[in-house]
Amino acid sequence: MNSVPFIGIDRHRLGIDGVGVTTLAAFHGCPLRCKYCLNRRCLEDPEGLPHYAPQQLYNKVGVDNLYFIATGGGVCFGGGEPLLRVDFLEEFKLLCGKGWNLTAETSLQVPRESVERATEVVGDFIVDIKESNPDIYKAYTGGDAARAWDNLEWLIQKKGPEHVIVRVPLIPDFNTEADCDRTVVRLTAMGVTRIDRFTYRVQQS
Ligand code: SF4
Repeated sequence: MNSVPFIGIDRHRLGIDGVGVTTLAAFHGCPLRCKYCLNRRCLEDPEGLPHYAPQQLYNKVGVDNLYFIATGGGVCFGGGEPLLRVDFLEEFKLLCGKGWNLTAETSLQVPRESVERATEVVGDFIVDIKESNPDIYKAYTGGDAARAWDNLEWLIQKKGPEHVIVRVPLIPDFNTEADCDRTVVRLTAMGVTRIDRFTYRVQQS
């Protein structure tokens, strides 16, 4: 397949995004427009970014093969939105095989078919669900909360809660602790057991 743009590759991550030692490979491109997006480069013109086909990325990150094998780690695909690149993920999995665990950091703001295909090759998911209140979600991301939540419900059933971490951020000027409490209650009712609750740090200009 053709090469696709990446905004960054970061090696030797431990306990940040998945099991064991991981390399983060961050795709360009995202369907959302979060007001405090930390990865603005993924929303801008991709000109000048490095491009890799699956084989090229596999060759590049394979330098850490021994770390991955020894720790049960592998590659975490982020972005941007990695589930926009499910063709790439499938081809990459054919190259790396079962020896590397793949993780995806995703908003699940993609068609259901993309989630279904991703579950066949991705071992663990880190879901940035952001908010349960659709009005707050829309105001902060520009997207439709129902799509992400419907996909999350399906994902939990399919993969099992042990393979899904859900991030619940307190977003200054957009939601409150009480909103986060409501999101956690809803997640718990869905069977989510791994919830990462935290606060966005917004730089004042
Ligand atoms: S989902 Fe992530 S990458 Fe996309 S706009 Fe929001 S913060 Fe940025």
